[in-house]
Amino acid sequence: MSLKKLNPENVRLLIVHCVANKCNKPFTSDMLIACGKAKYGQCSYHYYVRRSGDVIPLLPESVQGVHARHYNDCSLGIVYEGGLNEKGQPADTRTEAQKHALYELLKSLTRDYPNARIVGHSELPEQRMPIEQVLDWLSRDPSQRSQLPRVAKDCPCFQSQEYQDLQPSSRSDRDTD
Ligand SMILES: [Zn+2]
Repeated sequence: MSLKKLNPENVRLLIVHCVANKCNKPFTSDMLIACGKAKYGQCSYHYYVRRSGDVIPLLPESVQGVHARHYNDCSLGIVYEGGLNEKGQPADTRTEAQKHALYELLKSLTRDYPNARIVGHSELPEQRMPIEQVLDWLSRDPSQRSQLPRVAKDCPCFQSQEYQDLQPSSRSDRDTD
């Protein structure tokens, strides 16, 4: 099957996911690619952040991933290894190396896509909405968002609030180091 093209000008969301594997069981990039191919006929995500802090590019940014229903044509998918604790319960299992690598990756992507907003998968609305409306909704304080049904998944087990300093509203003040 041929991969759908992704127009860089349409990229407005950098969507963070977890693999949802137990954090004490390594999940290789080959396993991740095989999962995507079995489910969707292609690799699902653009970048994989391992527990070691290694960042593995999986898909070129010029093709669409299959990671967020209704929003694949306007986003890149970033996934971190883990998301379940040893007992198999949803948890933020990121290592310090992984947190650092994820931050640096997102920082670099926000430079390449200055209009894109970082968001956790489960913060997205469940239904398709115009992207400008989604961005407006996400830019509000979570307590002031209307109660739209959201993606019913514990993914990625932390809030994108953590990346407030990388979001479009904060970026104009950012120095260009
Ligand atoms: Zn997800």
